[in-house]
Amino acid sequence: MNAVPPNSASLIAALAGVLSDGGLLTEAEDLIRYSRDWSGDHFGRPLAVARPSSVEEMSALMRHCHAERIPVVPQGGLTGLVGAAVAADGNEVVVSLERMNRIRSISPIDFAMVVEAGCILEDAKRAAEESDCILPITFGAQGSCRIGGNVATNAGGFNVLRYGMTRDLVLGLEVVLADGRIWNGLKVLRKDNRGYDLKQVFIGSEGTLGIVTAAALKLFPRPTQIETALVGLRSVEDAMALYARARRGCSDLLTAFELILRGGIEITMREGKDFHEPLGKPYPAYVLIEVSSGGLIDLKDMLLSFLAGVEDLVEDGIVASTRAQGERLWLYREIMVERQGRGGRYLRTDVSVPISKLADFVTDALFELGRARPDALPVTYGHVGDGNIHLNVVPPEGMAAEAIEHLFEEAEAEIFAVVDRYGGSISAEHGIGRVKQRAFLDRIDPVALDLAAGIKDAIDPRHILSNGRILASASALDYR
Ligand SMILES: Cc1cc2nc3c(=O)[nH]c(=O)nc-3n(C[C@H](O)[C@H](O)[C@H](O)COP(=O)(O)OP(=O)(O)OC[C@H]3O[C@@H](n4cnc5c(N)ncnc54)[C@H](O)[C@@H]3O)c2cc1C
Repeated sequence: MNAVPPNSASLIAALAGVLSDGGLLTEAEDLIRYSRDWSGDHFGRPLAVARPSSVEEMSALMRHCHAERIPVVPQGGLTGLVGAAVAADGNEVVVSLERMNRIRSISPIDFAMVVEAGCILEDAKRAAEESDCILPITFGAQGSCRIGGNVATNAGGFNVLRYGMTRDLVLGLEVVLADGRIWNGLKVLRKDNRGYDLKQVFIGSEGTLGIVTAAALKLFPRPTQIETALVGLRSVEDAMALYARARRGCSDLLTAFELILRGGIEITMREGKDFHEPLGKPYPAYVLIEVSSGGLIDLKDMLLSFLAGVEDLVEDGIVASTRAQGERLWLYREIMVERQGRGGRYLRTDVSVPISKLADFVTDALFELGRARPDALPVTYGHVGDGNIHLNVVPPEGMAAEAIEHLFEEAEAEIFAVVDRYGGSISAEHGIGRVKQRAFLDRIDPVALDLAAGIKDAIDPRHILSNGRILASASALDYR
């Protein structure tokens, strides 16, 4: 059932035939932009880049690819971090959603919007705000990632603890299947119990089951007040104790609770222009707290009262007095994320454990990592309100490429072993793609693998869609 690499001249002529003007790119210089992802770690030349401009064109394209067994990979903004959207070198057609980027509708009464998959997340958020609503998916890559990519990766971000993951925000989907059929599941109903909830199969499927062409998404009332604080603490344990109190003490208005260990703040101070010691002196752990609400309460007063009641945990802190100051506090986190690798490669992990175990997990994982690889520099931060932590590893400066590879393998194995001990997940956000595939398949329950392989076989029987991501290449049957 493996997809067969096609003859490229006839392939290109046939694909051009089903796409409108400018829909097919084949020149080497045009393909570069679609060959490398944000991390720079993954590179693969596409056979060609198809850019359908409507669901009908997408359907015709996939009908042809299915008939001819042409392997394809859907691509959004290329900010995914597990190497899934980049083509297998010279062997796959990239299907870019970039020309399907319209906002089809917004209804502030339904609190819903219907957006095409190629719409950049930030553009969709802006459109929601113009209707006095918010689309709450929020994270550093929002200026580049696209809605289809968010759906396909079940993206999380800063606001998950209040609004949920993308999965919780999708009301309906339009999907073009591997054989070109269009599944129109685009509805804005809040309650609908008619049979299987098919959209859930596609959410988080990383392009392996269908091409999302549009999504109906939940919106929320736009907060009129947002307050941000940065606090310094003695330990991760204190940060988690603070979280438990904040969940109750902030009247359920908590929208973000982001942990950064001292090393992360130092990265921003070293690299970020004009970023000084944020709290006057250093602390082992920091938390960015954000609360938001409508107009009927005094939100700043609530946050200040809450902070006044947790002085046993909080060593020091600042509450932003303006939105601009609040945004500047967030930059301590964003700059750290961008600069942590000093422009070179670093190991990314995005693990999760039960919230109640997160502090112990961090202590144990850092201990095991330090014992196994004292030369590795850990950078630790995360959405700890969701039990999700990024425990990344930066190699020592000047280390040879092969030694870096070995360091990453060893470090990841140490961290994942501790995740297993805590009953956690090796991927809380980024997905499996190709990068985490081995670790995923080593751990998956055999019944779950059987079900996953059955779903793949049923929906994409020729395995032309994102072959070799999540499940093994060609047929998942090989792994059973
Ligand atoms: C600085 C930075 C911060 C980040 N922070 C977070 C974070 O906080 N939380 C989080 O969850 N992620 C985060 N990410 C990861 C990434 O941004 C998300 O995974 C995002 O949802 C990917 O969207 P994209 O459009 O870039 O998808 P791409 O990278 O283009 O693709 C990702 C996957 O989705 C598939 N895909 C894309 N479009 C479609 C479609 N229309 N139909 C079917 N499959 C499709 C691809 O084949 C691939 O498997 C971050 C990334 C960066 C660079």
